[in-house]
Formats: sequence, structure tokens, C-alpha cells
Amino acid sequence: LEQIYRKNFNSDISLFEDDRLIKIKDVLGLMFDEDNGDDLLNVINPQFEALLPYYSDVEKWAIKIADDVFKTSIKYFEKTKDQQEFIYKDNNNHTFHCFLDGYKVLDDEVIVIEVKATTSKKFLDLGPKRKNSANGQKYNSIFEENNNILTLKTKLNDELTVDKFSSNYQKLFDRFSNVGKYVFDIAVERYIIENSVIQNHPKLNSKKFKYYLAVLNSNYVFDNKYINNEPDYSLTDSNNSLFSYIDLTEVTKEYLPIIEKLKNEIVLNIYEKKLDSPILDKYCELKKSSKCFFDDVCWESLKKPGSILEYMNSKIFYDLDKNKHSKYDLVNQGKIHLEDIPVSWLSNPNQIIQRKCFDNKSEYINIDKIEKYIDILQYPIYHLDFESFPCPLPRFHGEKPYSQSLFQFSIHIEKGKNKCDEINDHISFLVDDFGDHRKELIEKLINIIDLTNGGTVLVYNKSFEQSRIQELSELFPEYKEQLDLIINHMHDLMDILKSKQAIFKELGFSEIESKTVNYYHNDLRGLYSIKKVLPLFSSLTYSDLNVKNGIEAISSYAAFKTSSIEDIKRLRASLIEYCRQDTWSMVLILNNIIKKIEDKVK
Ligand code: SF4
Repeated sequence: LEQIYRKNFNSDISLFEDDRLIKIKDVLGLMFDEDNGDDLLNVINPQFEALLPYYSDVEKWAIKIADDVFKTSIKYFEKTKDQQEFIYKDNNNHTFHCFLDGYKVLDDEVIVIEVKATTSKKFLDLGPKRKNSANGQKYNSIFEENNNILTLKTKLNDELTVDKFSSNYQKLFDRFSNVGKYVFDIAVERYIIENSVIQNHPKLNSKKFKYYLAVLNSNYVFDNKYINNEPDYSLTDSNNSLFSYIDLTEVTKEYLPIIEKLKNEIVLNIYEKKLDSPILDKYCELKKSSKCFFDDVCWESLKKPGSILEYMNSKIFYDLDKNKHSKYDLVNQGKIHLEDIPVSWLSNPNQIIQRKCFDNKSEYINIDKIEKYIDILQYPIYHLDFESFPCPLPRFHGEKPYSQSLFQFSIHIEKGKNKCDEINDHISFLVDDFGDHRKELIEKLINIIDLTNGGTVLVYNKSFEQSRIQELSELFPEYKEQLDLIINHMHDLMDILKSKQAIFKELGFSEIESKTVNYYHNDLRGLYSIKKVLPLFSSLTYSDLNVKNGIEAISSYAAFKTSSIEDIKRLRASLIEYCRQDTWSMVLILNNIIKKIEDKVK
């Protein structure tokens, strides 16, 4: 695919030995717009672009702090081409290069550092769950931390047994696991470095190479000063370092034969001009930020409506003889449509509902459940939505890496049933610069949301809004009481449609009823995001707004940092309009679902 993509429309079909299974012309049509030649695959992600400067800063600070942790001086180079490079040429004259984020030659040791903008949490959670969680640690990790360096534990215990250690340790070698993907990168580096040292750097041969992955310390809290308005993350307290360094020297050593095998496969593929049907699997990393560049080519038919992927809870299907069929196996056998799965294989009530809605082009609604939930909502209803900036580096005091920094909220106040005006009953808060306005935000929030005589705070996808308010309550305890009150009155509009086991069990429904969705329509395609739900209850659309989604909201806010006052004014107007639409959508969904129920019971 890479070779076809690079050649664009000039791809020569005859280059390929085997074009029986996929026609290259079709593939090209999925890569480039046939009318204007636009690249359909290389689409810019505005959120990634907005966070790019912070990712560079992650590398810079990881190397700077490493100086203190390793008690030496390590140079940082902003441009890859300036970094330490190792080159290795194999027997077939293929050349392999690697560039190192951090590199330092000491008397008898060489330090290699690979920086990743992920957090140490993934590694500290790698292990069995603790019976009693201590110091907020829920897992008995296979790693232990000493002076900001994580090493593999050597002493096991009743919870972290040999078996548990070993099964978790193996995840480091699975390059599609949430930890293994990072270990793989540094193992590839080691493979190239070791071969390059033998070929080109005999002086380094006697030195012991140490391989470290630098990741953001998930327990770090920013409490330092600012220099020129930028946070200073220098290591002033060894118990509060922005980075943890994971010693993967032994792990990468064990990895080398696997890398060698993969390298040989890659070399073979370079020679074989063959385009078989793709075998789709977890390595495509569909829907993840690390997804394969060619997912729109290989998964094209599965992204269309009516795909097998729309089934909820669909990792495994069981046939009548209780044989397991994984979703990927079925897809690779050509079963790509919803109706390709026999109804008798559907064991989950939600899948059965989905299938009926698909076959009969109908909708499903559980009036009793929805009515009972709506009955507990008290007016006034405050429809609330937050916008946040997920910065890898904390910007304000008390924040951690990837804190979801709130910069905006929108509230529609519905005083009684259907008593809400899109403009007159709307209140919003939006910062006017890139600075710290958390206290202003809290004060406005608790001023608007008056729960003294009861009421409901309605959000869409409660875990997000609830976590943000909890964080504010911990950071600013002087507002704890009012913020806790908001949490205690919070309900989730998505639960009204999708159900939530705990709530519906409390309302008297059986376990199975509580687990089953309350509303389904084929157009949801197995998803309940507000953007999927809205068209079923309203003709309102985001397509004519300047800011159309959360990602664009993040990039608009990020632009505050460098924009003129005039441009910020323009950006603010678009952000306010966007966030208002989010809460107005909630008002419309709630009222139209109530109307739908009333019409049905008439
Ligand atoms: S989408 Fe999956 S099957 Fe297709 S090229 Fe990428 S990894 Fe391979």
C-alpha cells in the first residue's frame, strides 16, 4: 500500500505480481480524490497540531530532568537530524537508521533514552489488582520506583506471584498492548545500535549500554514557579519529578531475536510486489490515535452502515455448539455485515435489539424504563457541558500531566418542562486568554447552578463532567461544598437512552433489564455520542458552525496563546456558539424523547 500511495496516480499495476484480489485502481480511488487528486488519507488532525509544541517540550524537559536523575549532562536536540544517529547495514545492503532522544557516553556505560509522551500509570498498573489499595496504587505492579527510575521487581509476594509476574511481563513483548507499543520502539533502537556498534563503533564495544524509556510521571503535580510566563519543571524535589525513567535494558535484550525476525520479514516484503487481501486484526489499531495510516483502505467496507462492527459487546460470538468466533476471524472470513451473523449466535439482548431494528428498519424504546428515570429528574434542569484542554504538560499549579484543563462551559436552564429558550436561558463562561481562570470558572458555575430548592444538573457522559468537578473540588477546597452539591445532583442524559445498570437496578428493574438499552435506532450504528443521537431527535446540525466538534474547540482555544485580540474575539464567538449548541442539543433530545413517550402512551 505504501508503494502505491507514494506513486499516487502513476502507480503501475504491472509492478505488482498479484493483483487478483484487490484491484489497484480501486485502492487508488480510496487514497486520492478522483476529481481533484486530493490526498484522502493524509488528513490533518487539528488537536494533534495544537498539542505539537507541547510534545516537543516533553522531549526537552525529559532530557533536562534526566541530567539530575542520572547526575550527568545530556544534550537535547530539537531536530531529529541533529540527534545521535546509529546506522547499520545488513548483508543485503539494506540500511537501518535510528536517532536517539537522549544519549550519553560515560566511562564504562552508555545511557540511551527514548522519550514517550505517555504516562507512568500504564507501567505502574501492570500487575495484579491489590486486595487493599495502598497510597492510591490499585495494582501490584511488576515495576518498582526508586529515585524516579522504574526497574522490574525482583522480590515477589503473595499477590504478585511468579505466574502473575510472568503473565504481566509478557505484555511488554506485545507491541499492540498499551505498554508494549512503547517497549517495541526502544527494542528496535537497541537492535540497530548493537549491530551498528559491531560494524562502526568498536570503541563502544566494551561499554555497557543502558536503555531507558522516559515517560511523564502520572503522580507529578506542578507546584513550581514560572519563568517568562512558562512553567518551570526543573527537578527541585526528587519526590516530585515530571518524568519517570523506565529501565528496559534486560527487556530489550530478550526482545532482540523477535526484532531480528520482524526485520527479515520487512526485507522480504520490500521485494515482494504482491497485494493480497488484507488480514484485518488488532494491529490495524482501528479508532486509536496510533491507527494504521491505511485503515480507510483496508477497512473501507466495514466503515459503511450495516457493518458487523456496529454490534455492541461484539468481541466474541458463540455459535450454537458453543464454539468461539472472534470478531476479527469473522471479518477475515468475509462476514462483514450485521446480517452475516446468524440471529441464533446473538446472546446479548442489546445485539438482538440492534438486529431487530436493522432487519425491520424500526426503532426500539423501553417506555417504562425511560419514564421512571425521567420522573426522578427535578426542575430546574441545568443542562451543562464543559470544554477542556488535555495538555501533556501541566500548565497551572496543582495540575498533573494530561490534566483536562477547563476553559469553557455552557449551561441552558430549563425552568419547567419545555420551558427553555435557546438564547434567553443560556449562560456561558469562556476564558478570554490562555491564562489560569479556574477560580472565575468555579465561581460562575456555582453562582448559576442554584440547587437550594432542588433541581438537576444534566450532562452528556457523566464521568467526564463529574471528574472535572471532583478535580476542582480537590484543588480548591474552599468551594468543595458547592461543587459536591453539583455532583450529587448530576444525571446523565446518555443513561436515559443507553441505560446504566446501577441506576435502573435501584429503580427496581431486574439485572438483565438494567443492562439492556432503553432506546435504539439503526442510525446510531451501535454508538450513543451526542452527535449520533441528535439527528434522531432534531434537525439541528453542526455542519454550518465555525467550530464543529470538540477537537476543533481544542485547537481554537490553543490558538488564544498566539492570536491577536481581534482574532481571539472571533474565536470566542465561534466557541460560544459551538458549546451553546451542545447544551441546546441536550434540551432538544430530552424534550423530544419525553414527547415521543407521551405520543406512544396516548
Ligand atoms: S489497515 Fe491493517 S491490514 Fe491494512 S495495511 Fe494497515 S495494518 Fe495492514
